[in-house]
Amino acid sequence: MRTNRFTLHRPTRLDEAIALKARLGDTAAYHAGGTELLIALKARVLRYGHLIDIKQIADLREIRVRSDGTLSIGALNSHDTIARSPLVKAQLPSYAELSEQVANIRVRIAGTIGGVLCFGEPHADAPTLLCALDAWVVLSGPRGEREVPLREFHLGEFSTAKEDDEILVSVEIAPQSEGTCSAYRSFGHTERPAVGVAAVWSTDNPQRLSLWAGALSSRPVCLERAQEAAASLPPDSRPDTIWNAIEAAVAADAAEIDTRDDLHGGADYKRHLVSVLAKRALFACLTLP
Ligand SMILES: Cc1cc2nc3c(=O)[nH]c(=O)nc-3n(C[C@H](O)[C@H](O)[C@H](O)COP(=O)(O)OP(=O)(O)OC[C@H]3O[C@@H](n4cnc5c(N)ncnc54)[C@H](O)[C@@H]3O)c2cc1C
Repeated sequence: MRTNRFTLHRPTRLDEAIALKARLGDTAAYHAGGTELLIALKARVLRYGHLIDIKQIADLREIRVRSDGTLSIGALNSHDTIARSPLVKAQLPSYAELSEQVANIRVRIAGTIGGVLCFGEPHADAPTLLCALDAWVVLSGPRGEREVPLREFHLGEFSTAKEDDEILVSVEIAPQSEGTCSAYRSFGHTERPAVGVAAVWSTDNPQRLSLWAGALSSRPVCLERAQEAAASLPPDSRPDTIWNAIEAAVAADAAEIDTRDDLHGGADYKRHLVSVLAKRALFACLTLP
């Protein structure tokens, strides 16, 4: 099916794009890679008279390390660009690896980090690891700029804390200490993940595990019991000791996740996958060289 007719606007500055949206209101949508938006327009699930293509805005393309060590990834960077970025590979290899595994090569080249977060389709990889890392996003709109933690950004399926007129400018990840490692593992039968689990393990004092499961419910979920069980372990515990101590807690957390049978698998199967992937993610980060 074809999209309805629309006018394409191609602003080169952020303030220009925001002003255009303010003028055009509900008749317009921001357009980045178009991998989700064009499917929805062709299926006539969405209909707009104007698309504001933000790809010409250079400020949204930067990947840099801020003076305080925060890794800042501009919203327009594609999954493929991030996977290849020497800076991301050096600062946060787990996120570069995740980006390398997203979807297929077409979606990886066109689809952006901003787009996957703003669309809010739950079967995605990035939100899970970004929640585990306690990342945040910078949003810009007619009322100025603000920051929102990723853990508060997704409100439900296709629903986010971003106002319709705001542009997601960048994703920010605080510097990781020497004793911190992270990993993400996912599994799916389609191009999108059925379940993904992210683990961030920190040997800093106090020792901390951040463990999040995503894709199987409307927004990523924190595996809190498992985190608590890990916090009380003696420092320098071996990976199998850690897993034995938290395995039951992971299963208990997974049992409470609000998921349902769908084309990605049965609810019980997906809850079982949470345990399998939590173990893989945990071992992956604990056994990193
Ligand atoms: C076949 C297929 C398989 C996929 N598999 C995976 C997968 O395995 N893992 C995974 O994580 N994801 C997967 N995805 C999702 C993919 O990551 C997203 O489609 C892509 O990143 C969206 O980015 P985009 O730039 O194309 O967004 P667009 O389609 O351009 O936009 C999507 C929505 O976000 C809004 N938007 C985009 N950028 C901004 C911005 N900077 N500020 C404000 N609003 C914005 C648009 O208005 C629109 O509502 C898959 C998608 C497809 C089509």
